[in-house]
Amino acid sequence: MDFFVMTLFPELIESIADSSIIKRAKDAGIISVQAVNIRDYTEDKHGHVDDYCYGGGKGMLIKAQPVYDCYQAVEKNIGRKTRVIYMTPQGEVFTQKKAEELAKEEALVFLCGHYEGIDERVLEEIVTDYISVGDYVLTGGELPAMTVIDAVSRLVPGVISEGSEVIETFHDNLLEYPQYTRPEVWRDRQVPEVLLSGHHQKVEEWQRKKSIERTLRWRPDLIKDAVLSKKEQQFLKELQKKDDDDPLHS
Ligand code: SAM
Repeated sequence: MDFFVMTLFPELIESIADSSIIKRAKDAGIISVQAVNIRDYTEDKHGHVDDYCYGGGKGMLIKAQPVYDCYQAVEKNIGRKTRVIYMTPQGEVFTQKKAEELAKEEALVFLCGHYEGIDERVLEEIVTDYISVGDYVLTGGELPAMTVIDAVSRLVPGVISEGSEVIETFHDNLLEYPQYTRPEVWRDRQVPEVLLSGHHQKVEEWQRKKSIERTLRWRPDLIKDAVLSKKEQQFLKELQKKDDDDPLHS
């Protein structure tokens, strides 16, 4: 999978892409992350890429021309049209489902704004997807782009050890269960007995119950779409009833 990031701050992209699992995946040739500097494409003789907004307003806006020319160069490099994702707080909020959808592509182009954003006309011309990382405003699109690249990369076969991505948070619309490693006792806190039992089925049942419990408490918005067996639905009903009967929960 090849990622191209159009940005005014390529060093921000490179500093994140050159560490940890993403670096390992790049070194192994499973993914590539290329930061392309929009500034290199400006026709302005002083190297400016931004200008004042028509209609007033305080901030500066990135001009259409350098972004468009930068995109043309990226498209030529890839050799065909691909999805172009503008990272913006106005976009569709990023989810694991969206990451799964994007992981099916062979190449993705990201566009990072800065200052007040980017001239609308070039967005209309080249952007296929508008993605937000949450309902807050950041100074630039670089951290959001790397968030999406990180989440998509882990779904590319070979990037993380086989199977580790299968049952984790958001699988079946549930949060992941609590996990423990050695030692068995730490500051008088004991690892739950069942996890030491070696009884596979009991461990799985315990993990599913903990996932359901945690999702209900921490992300009740997810629970209505959780994929549950009949027995698990019954368990959820009992939990909800217990909460309803508990004065602290009402
Ligand atoms: N004026 C813009 C608005 O009100 O929608 C916000 C511009 S923001 C200060 C500068 C850039 O940061 C945006 O162009 C976008 O690329 C990026 N950005 C900021 N918050 C973001 C978010 N929540 N998700 C994705 N990108 C974001």
